[in-house]
Amino acid sequence: MVEYQFLDSSKEGLRIGKIICLIRSYRKHAKEMGAEPTETPMFFLKPTSAVIFSGDSIITPPQVRSLHHEVEVGVVIGTKGKNILKQDALDHVLGYLIALDITARDIQSEAKKNGWPWGIAKGFDTFAPLSRIILKEHIPSPNDIEFSLSVNGSLRQKVNTKELIWSIESIVSSISEIMTLEPGDLILTGTPGGVGVLKKEDRLFARLADRLTLDVTVK
Ligand code: MG
Repeated sequence: MVEYQFLDSSKEGLRIGKIICLIRSYRKHAKEMGAEPTETPMFFLKPTSAVIFSGDSIITPPQVRSLHHEVEVGVVIGTKGKNILKQDALDHVLGYLIALDITARDIQSEAKKNGWPWGIAKGFDTFAPLSRIILKEHIPSPNDIEFSLSVNGSLRQKVNTKELIWSIESIVSSISEIMTLEPGDLILTGTPGGVGVLKKEDRLFARLADRLTLDVTVK
């Protein structure tokens, strides 16, 4: 089977675990946020209740004035591990997907200013659109995956995981030093430069390596 799907109400698949989202993992994105990249991978957690799939809609919450897109490659864990060595990291990976880390940028800016956590800005329902999963055997190197996002047909973000500050192996290893990684856990590896505003009726089309697509609209 080339593709796999996280469990949703209508289809069979793998049950999704925790969602671990990296920040400032691409230099251009750190720069556009006016920040320096961190020395080691830094992350927050997104709730599983935020997950939607291709064909679904991102719902703009009434409290949000600035909704932003961030396209990201997701690493899906297949085998449990703690303190995973870099050289063993890919043995714990089931596959990859393309995802959107939808962000309430106004709420996040307020949180940054006040030293508050980002849970609200990143955690609204529908803020984690996910594609199907492509098994790792079909991706020659996770450190060389091209991915992109178009909004209403115009290209907004296009990059390759080559530009990540850390390798996928280092990211998996580093997170596993803090929390046990379990089957169904998802690591969103952070967004490249080019994040931008979304408005109602926008149509988003994300693509990974010409193999996986994710198609959602904003409501
Ligand atoms: Mg992000």
